[in-house]
Amino acid sequence: MEEEVLKKYIEAGRIARIVLEEAAKRVDVGVKLVDICEYAEKRIVELGGQPAFPCNISVNEVAAHYTPRVGDESTVPEGAVVKLDIGVHVDGYIADTATTVVLDPAYEKLAEAVREALEKALEKVRKGVAFYTISKTIESVIRSYGYKPIVNLGGHSLDRYVVHAGESIPNAADPLLKGSFKAGKVYAIEPFATTGVGYVEEGDIVTIYALHQTKLRRRLTPFEKKMLAYIASKFRTLPFTERWLVKDLGDVDKIRVALARLAKMGFLIQYPILVEKSRGIVAQFEHTIVVLEDNVIVTTAKE
Ligand code: MN
Ligand code: MN
Repeated sequence: MEEEVLKKYIEAGRIARIVLEEAAKRVDVGVKLVDICEYAEKRIVELGGQPAFPCNISVNEVAAHYTPRVGDESTVPEGAVVKLDIGVHVDGYIADTATTVVLDPAYEKLAEAVREALEKALEKVRKGVAFYTISKTIESVIRSYGYKPIVNLGGHSLDRYVVHAGESIPNAADPLLKGSFKAGKVYAIEPFATTGVGYVEEGDIVTIYALHQTKLRRRLTPFEKKMLAYIASKFRTLPFTERWLVKDLGDVDKIRVALARLAKMGFLIQYPILVEKSRGIVAQFEHTIVVLEDNVIVTTAKE
């Protein structure tokens, strides 16, 4: 990996680590979810990065992909288990990191299981190691605590301006799983554990979108054209949310109609919220790593 590129990955990681730590401190009963997310997204820019995706704040049985929409007044409930997942990019080079804040001591052990799963997995990663080894490590640590890994969520490769770059590292051992860590590549490792059955399904709420393609032959309204051009220039293929559109495009009702139409026509991808199937409580931790010839840098960890 070129020195300049590595520097940008490390800088994105440094910013993501600081912002995640600061945002996690703000999670408390009664605090508005949107305030935590807007704080995180603002701090990313203040520290010299750009959000690589909207701040995800997923409560209890919601595992991922929830970011507050415009006018969302919801707050952190009593005894909540809150996953904060932050993405930062510097010139397109991404850091993806997450933590869990537990407000009910009964779920401390659940969080501990995931923290240890991530730690043990990271100890094993180096060039040439099979993804299977990491999946197996994550699964066995989580099971040793008496919880279930979420089998249909997992780590992933990252690329410039691409959060999910094709390869996945599931949270449970699958003997058919192929693939191994390559030098010069970047990955996120993200174990999820639950008190439930260990499977997420899509909920009915969509709060996050990304551009899919711009070249479809469809008749668009002038507003839809303008919004599509804005998304393409501002976010490229990175995920975004309606909170980020209202600042420049105004009227949220108009934006919502356009988002739904553009998604239906195939211009945009929707990322529905992911909810644990049996409504079990979910915990998650995540770090981004750069795999080099003879070492591994965890960009989002403290040195
Ligand atoms: Mn993440
Ligand atoms: Mn990730």
